[in-house]
Amino acid sequence: MYKGSCLCGEVTYQLKSEPKKVSHCHCTMCQKQHGAAFATYASLLKTDLEYLSGKEQLVSYNSSNSIIRKFCGQCGSSLEWCGSKDFPDWTSIAIGTLDTPYTDDCIVDIYTDTKVSWLIHQSPNKA
Ligand SMILES: [Zn+2]
Ligand SMILES: [Zn+2]
Repeated sequence: MYKGSCLCGEVTYQLKSEPKKVSHCHCTMCQKQHGAAFATYASLLKTDLEYLSGKEQLVSYNSSNSIIRKFCGQCGSSLEWCGSKDFPDWTSIAIGTLDTPYTDDCIVDIYTDTKVSWLIHQSPNKA
């Protein structure tokens, strides 16, 4: 069981299953929203993400088409990415907010066309 929280601690959540797919997303929207080189998201069934507190603090931003990005309205932590029409039952959680250590190193890099040039990314899978 994984648990996580936002920076201010108002929003807490737990994952009721092992995340299915984890990716470092280098798209420009993730860079902007996270203020970082990339965002790391884990996919899981919507029903397996349970907010334990602070759900009313969540603010939704519609970044493109059906995609909703949710963040804490108090501290700004990015938490959830959802609304994909291809995967309506799925959501993604920003695993930088996990309090439980995540140890799987099978993380794929996506949208690397827009990867920032200043990122020195040391992945065990890559030279
Ligand atoms: Zn917060
Ligand atoms: Zn992205």
